[in-house]
Amino acid sequence: MKRNRHLIVLACLVTATALADEVFTNSEPRWWRGNLHTHTLWSDGDGFPEVVAQWYRDAGYNFLSLSDHNVLSQGEKWKRVKDVDARAKTNAFAQYLNRFGPHWVETRTATEHEAMEVRLKPIEEYRALVEERGRFLMIQAEEITHEAKNGRALHLNVVNLLEVIAPRDGATIRETIANNLAAVEESARRTGREIIVHVNHPNYKWGVTSEDLAAVVGERFFEVWNGVDNDGDPGDEIHPSTDEMWDVANTLRLAGMGAPPLFAVATDDSHDHHGNKTRALPGRAWVMVQARHLTPESIVQAIRTGDFYASTGVELDEVVFDKPTGKLALRIRAKGDATFVTQFIGTRKGVNLTGKPRLDKAGRIVETTLDYRSASGSQIGEVFCEVKGVNPSYTLRGDELYVRAVITSSAAPRVPSSEFPFQRAWTQPVGWRAHGAD
Ligand SMILES: [Zn+2]
Ligand SMILES: [Zn+2]
Repeated sequence: MKRNRHLIVLACLVTATALADEVFTNSEPRWWRGNLHTHTLWSDGDGFPEVVAQWYRDAGYNFLSLSDHNVLSQGEKWKRVKDVDARAKTNAFAQYLNRFGPHWVETRTATEHEAMEVRLKPIEEYRALVEERGRFLMIQAEEITHEAKNGRALHLNVVNLLEVIAPRDGATIRETIANNLAAVEESARRTGREIIVHVNHPNYKWGVTSEDLAAVVGERFFEVWNGVDNDGDPGDEIHPSTDEMWDVANTLRLAGMGAPPLFAVATDDSHDHHGNKTRALPGRAWVMVQARHLTPESIVQAIRTGDFYASTGVELDEVVFDKPTGKLALRIRAKGDATFVTQFIGTRKGVNLTGKPRLDKAGRIVETTLDYRSASGSQIGEVFCEVKGVNPSYTLRGDELYVRAVITSSAAPRVPSSEFPFQRAWTQPVGWRAHGAD
């Protein structure tokens, strides 16, 4: 009897193990939803890391990077409770204690101040609380936050690193990007990790231009959309939008340098996790990555090869580029009575790359992306065609440097943004050749 019971237990264990292994050995590529850029109390966000991670998990995300400024959530860190509540503009500590209980929440009283402090959990502790195999994964990240010597702001998101990377100086934005990429490459080699880096919110304080994005060809990613309100994504009367900057940078790379284009991510950059401040809310922008496994390596490699799209709400079931026929075909997931318009955007070969400085109202030169449109017409980032419906496609004529798709829904984003009123998705450039291959 005792032996039989052991056999049954063993059989159950074998079945469970076989099912779990099948997830990894026979899995087909599928879409995983993730946010690569988030802040917590480890820097200037207002949420405890495990609370933030649970919010994303409960909202249906599959992976999350907490990317605090120049720090990893490692080691010992204490915050004054009153500072936590002041930043959140609510009783954040009491909510945290109420949710996780006194056995999880750690506090101490610093005798010299008589002020209670709460310990921030490092990733290796909260990972165990929030991760779920095949459903939710934490991928460690850092936002390298720095200024070039000329005062221009540069923030770089570094995803899947193991050790904190201190910002490196540079005289210009280009030099600063290159120097920090070199630091990341050294760390990647030393730790045996595949690490990806993307340029954050290039229009924040108008720090980064298209020419900067084009120049450092080792940089392959940037934020075409960042969920923070008023961070410059739509541009203004003098500065181009991040969408336009993407086309200028890709055209300069492909036509002028024979270098591969940038791929674009969308991220939340969420700081405000209690809902009473709205500038940097979670849930505004994310990436959908097509990969077999929900592991850091599988996700990072898929992003590296461009198997992902950026979204603020539009969902794509298929993004297929058939190289032999040059056809880019999308299948958009229908939602209620929402309607969709897809623009296929790109630049043709032989484009005029003459740019001229932009001027402000007083006629002074503005240090920003050059104006290529007055010389080239609208040849850079030209809308090749616009298609309505849920099955748009575009077949390359053969004279395009690249083509990409932007899909706009008639539906408003679930988390409203003051910068754009409709849900969108952006697919990566296809049909390009850099140094003879793409
Ligand atoms: Zn930033
Ligand atoms: Zn940030």
